[in-house]
Amino acid sequence: MVVDYHTHNFLCKHADGEIEEYILRAIDRGLNEIGCSDHSPMPNNFDAQHRMTEEQFYSFYKPAVLELRQKYKGRISVKFALEGDFFPGTEEWVKNFNAQHSFDYVIGSVHYLGEWGFDNPIFVHKYEERDIDETYELYYDHIRRSAQSRLFDILGHCDLVKKFGHRPTRTMEEVLHESFKAVKAADMAVEINTAGLRKPVKEIYPSEQILQIIREYNIPLTLGSDAHTPGDVGRDFDLARQLVEKYGSGKISVFTNRERSEIRIS
Ligand code: ZN
Ligand code: FE
Ligand code: FE
Ligand code: ZN
Repeated sequence: MVVDYHTHNFLCKHADGEIEEYILRAIDRGLNEIGCSDHSPMPNNFDAQHRMTEEQFYSFYKPAVLELRQKYKGRISVKFALEGDFFPGTEEWVKNFNAQHSFDYVIGSVHYLGEWGFDNPIFVHKYEERDIDETYELYYDHIRRSAQSRLFDILGHCDLVKKFGHRPTRTMEEVLHESFKAVKAADMAVEINTAGLRKPVKEIYPSEQILQIIREYNIPLTLGSDAHTPGDVGRDFDLARQLVEKYGSGKISVFTNRERSEIRIS
């Protein structure tokens, strides 16, 4: 059994392809489940240029995913999900929004440190303007707070701050332990996200240093390609699979109606 729980589509304006093309690719790849987890709408036009509008969620995304789930029943299990953002100040809105829909799961991602969209290539110069250790500490502080918000089921690309190859001068052990203690307490899974291999850092999210901490706390794993084009569905899952064997006892989490269960990867 294999799943890809992190995929996008054209609605977020920085991915291409119809939802159905991602599903067909997942079937081609022999996946058992595919999660449609496009970037969630947010209040007050927050980051509107990188996500669907609330109107598109209702008029297109939700009905399309639910219809495709029916259409492909028996061939692949299609999950209705979102990649949400942890952004302080939006918690109440996100909580209410997520409660109104029958999501199978919601991924929680940190893409913003204050106003800084630190994973956006346009703002990469800002890494040089700040102390890199402080940037890492602030990032993991947001990871901890995203877990404590209890808004999310899966922690998304949990060391995204390394995306462009900037490295801290210290190991960050202490702040990492604080973060993953909170992830465990929130009963979340962490995704192994293969998109990092396609970014300047050329390393899977998360690093093996972090996977060791995850194993120490017995935090469950799941899998995502973070595909922004249909051809990337299930990409580099051979490596991901090896990491699941090594750090997750060969088991991954799957979700239905925001209930987690564990299955053996194969
Ligand atoms: Zn995206
Ligand atoms: Fe993301
Ligand atoms: Fe994503
Ligand atoms: Zn992502």
